[in-house]
Amino acid sequence: MASIGIVGGGIAGLTAALALAERGHEVTLIHTGIKKTNSYLAQAGIALPLLEGDSIKAHVIDTLRGGKYLNDEEVVWNVVSKASEAYDFLLSLGMEFETNETEGGHSFPRVFTIKNETGKHLTKILYLHAKERGVSFIKGVGEELAIKHGKAYGVFVNGEFLKFDATVVASGGFTGLFKYTAGSPMNLGTLIGDAVLKGAFARDLEFVQFHPTGFMGKEGVKLISEAVRGAGAKLVTEDGERFVNELSTRDIVARAIYLKMQEGKRVFLDATGIGDFKKKFPQIYAFLRKEGIDPSRDLIQVSPIAHYTIGGIAVDLWYRSSIKNLYAIGEAASNGFHGANRLASNSLLECIVSGLEVARTIARDKPRVREVKDPPYHGYETGDVESLRRILWEHAGIVRNAKSLREGLKKLEGVEADPRLKLLAKGVLECALAREESRGAHYREDFPLMRKEFERPSFFDGKCML
Ligand SMILES: Cc1cc2nc3c(=O)[nH]c(=O)nc-3n(C[C@H](O)[C@H](O)[C@H](O)COP(=O)(O)OP(=O)(O)OC[C@H]3O[C@@H](n4cnc5c(N)ncnc54)[C@H](O)[C@@H]3O)c2cc1C
Repeated sequence: MASIGIVGGGIAGLTAALALAERGHEVTLIHTGIKKTNSYLAQAGIALPLLEGDSIKAHVIDTLRGGKYLNDEEVVWNVVSKASEAYDFLLSLGMEFETNETEGGHSFPRVFTIKNETGKHLTKILYLHAKERGVSFIKGVGEELAIKHGKAYGVFVNGEFLKFDATVVASGGFTGLFKYTAGSPMNLGTLIGDAVLKGAFARDLEFVQFHPTGFMGKEGVKLISEAVRGAGAKLVTEDGERFVNELSTRDIVARAIYLKMQEGKRVFLDATGIGDFKKKFPQIYAFLRKEGIDPSRDLIQVSPIAHYTIGGIAVDLWYRSSIKNLYAIGEAASNGFHGANRLASNSLLECIVSGLEVARTIARDKPRVREVKDPPYHGYETGDVESLRRILWEHAGIVRNAKSLREGLKKLEGVEADPRLKLLAKGVLECALAREESRGAHYREDFPLMRKEFERPSFFDGKCML
């Protein structure tokens, strides 16, 4: 049986680890802490079109509409059709969901949830089963992919080369490369940049989803789920003006808040009308109380934050990258499932489906690597990541235009940081510049409409191809 190295301990990596171990492979998972993943933070849940009255077709249509028709339709059908397999897999582990909710863009209450802390329960249960199945866990950073002559041979961890027959990148997205995010600041996308630097393609890097209601507290940035708006909370400026339909899609609400903030106004969420806030949103209630805010009485100041990166390592329907023996799954991967905008709770579905699918792909591919002499190792330093975060936030943020994107690219040249992170940031800026339209999560104030000639994905291999 093959030896498999997986980098990333989120829901995608853990699912793949478990599925591969069940097939008898020797699996090693390199991670920086299971509780430090974005998966652990996922609140609302997982979208599954399984209830009576719902259908795969309805979920597919919602996903295509949300993605503004930039999705790869075959991938969408494939992922959504595997929802029932994903659900059975979770039930077999002992997972129990509490209820079902509707989230923005879904035409049916198909989001399976556990008290707004679905990710925590899912991650824990997957971790326990993977451990039981004999997956080896190594705590540490997967520093670099060992790639030579277009073939992957494993991963470097703490300077040491670990050789694997197949390498799976499950290291999440790159929201940590933006100044404000409620996700893990470790999610920098280093291995996405690394893969591109070593010959892989990235896809759709310009599509970064911003969440409208981040909360900048003393204890860091937190997320106020859109379920709070769903339950009736209103958005108001400091003058008490309501300025947007709170139930519009995330990109519209985020942009409206951003524009109010550009006018110098503070924006608040007024949840005082929600009678049983504590019972409905225990986790959010707890962190607000820690910050001295009582949502039944006080307004909650909010600001948009980077939430999800649609782009990643370009993979096919079976999660293979263009580098032999290198696979990518979860948020680190991109194959057109989300199109130009991810539908809420579709990412956990993608994590489970891609984790199960990549195990089948690897079983079919039967990867084997021979001894390899000195795969290149560079020992890159992270460097000035704060400047990168500032540049992407200011120049490739919620509202973009050509002048500012060009300025961002210029500033990027002068930053002393890990070349892989710089490459990824360049990909975001260049592809956002090339896409002269507004579509889904990508908004250009100089091209505010969707344009038919841009109805295609972008690819990046050091240069943007669109
Ligand atoms: C606050 C919040 C709430 C969310 N709520 C939902 C929701 O309700 N439903 C939904 O579908 N989606 C939600 N999302 C999105 C969803 O959580 C993520 O898209 C998904 O969990 C990504 O899973 P993953 O396994 O691909 O990566 P992650 O869960 O991000 O795990 C990857 C891990 O690998 C680590 N890593 C990175 N580089 C390396 C390296 N070189 N070596 C070792 N480790 C590395 C990362 O730091 C991270 O800990 C939410 C996101 C956030 C931030």
